[in-house]
Amino acid sequence: MPKTRPSVSRVDVRTFTIPTDHPEADGTAEWDSTTVVVVEVRAGEHTGLGWTYTDASAAAVVRRMLAPAVVGVDAMDTGRAAFAMSRALRNAGAPGIGACAQSAVDIALWDLRARLSGLSLCDAIGRVRSSAPVYGSGGFTTYPDERMSAQLRGWVERDGVAAVKIKIGESWGSRTERDLERVESARRTVGPEVRLMVDANGAYSVGQARRVERALREFDVSWFEEPVTSDDPAGLARLRASSVAEIAAGEYVYRLADAERLLEAGAVDCLQLDVTRCGGITGWFRAAAAAQARQLKVSAHCAPQLAAQVSVCTENAREIEYFHDHERLDPMLFEGTLAVRDGALTPRTDALGHGMTLAQSAGAFEVDAAPGA
Ligand SMILES: [Mg+2]
Repeated sequence: MPKTRPSVSRVDVRTFTIPTDHPEADGTAEWDSTTVVVVEVRAGEHTGLGWTYTDASAAAVVRRMLAPAVVGVDAMDTGRAAFAMSRALRNAGAPGIGACAQSAVDIALWDLRARLSGLSLCDAIGRVRSSAPVYGSGGFTTYPDERMSAQLRGWVERDGVAAVKIKIGESWGSRTERDLERVESARRTVGPEVRLMVDANGAYSVGQARRVERALREFDVSWFEEPVTSDDPAGLARLRASSVAEIAAGEYVYRLADAERLLEAGAVDCLQLDVTRCGGITGWFRAAAAAQARQLKVSAHCAPQLAAQVSVCTENAREIEYFHDHERLDPMLFEGTLAVRDGALTPRTDALGHGMTLAQSAGAFEVDAAPGA
């Protein structure tokens, strides 16, 4: 029995924005900063920490809709809290910003429950393995060739990763020649042994993606992520039927039904899930089970520090995306982050919860707590 069994007494939410270290773009978006909405939940003497990488408006969702739903709930009842949050969001919109906000609170509540139980988070959930392999992810379309090469080499030589991923589909798929030149350059940089993955972020049409996929075979590309938009599961499935590279998608899975839509269409070889978007730890395990029912694996999208916690506890999990922006900013915001060793992240079992806390120094990146007010 846990020593104490208090109720959730308060929910605090803060927002931080950190500029990127270089202008960044993929096939269909460009950005120069990352915003992180951080949630702390309190019960008794313990504080649980969760977060999501999304717009500051998620903080208002937490404050106005989710905090009232979970304050007063028994802190051990993560399922009850998840159900209460889903009900609270029903009319405002559970997917999108709502799901991101719910994910941050859900992760904080699971962390809190583990801490109250005197356990590490992965021990509270139950591990399948000790470590989660990662792949280096960046290679933005805005990078000069030398910058991309240095980044890829760092992951391979310094961190020992077995796979790397770069962005293609530049300018909505209008620069396929440059896409292929960059893939060739990436292959040259990492050599023949490292797995090479690409992500088009939905930039191509189905026919265009099919032609690109044929060309990618020359460079032994093994993973083609969102070759067409995830809004077109049938298009992904058509492409998958002829593709040598694995087809992957799922970063916009906000709830179980979104995962089921991709799975039912036969759209993916591997389902991606973002624990900070898909309903948190509660949502992750539901969607991972849906994939497992079809003998498919899941791969964590971004959020590597939190993804490591759930991936080691998920039988059908494979590599985690070690995304450049998050690799850089997580240690700026949080104390106790894990470092990649031999291409993998190994969650601690000698700490309470996930072992991370909000850093004092994070305050330098805090933005207006009431955006638009
Ligand atoms: Mg992606």
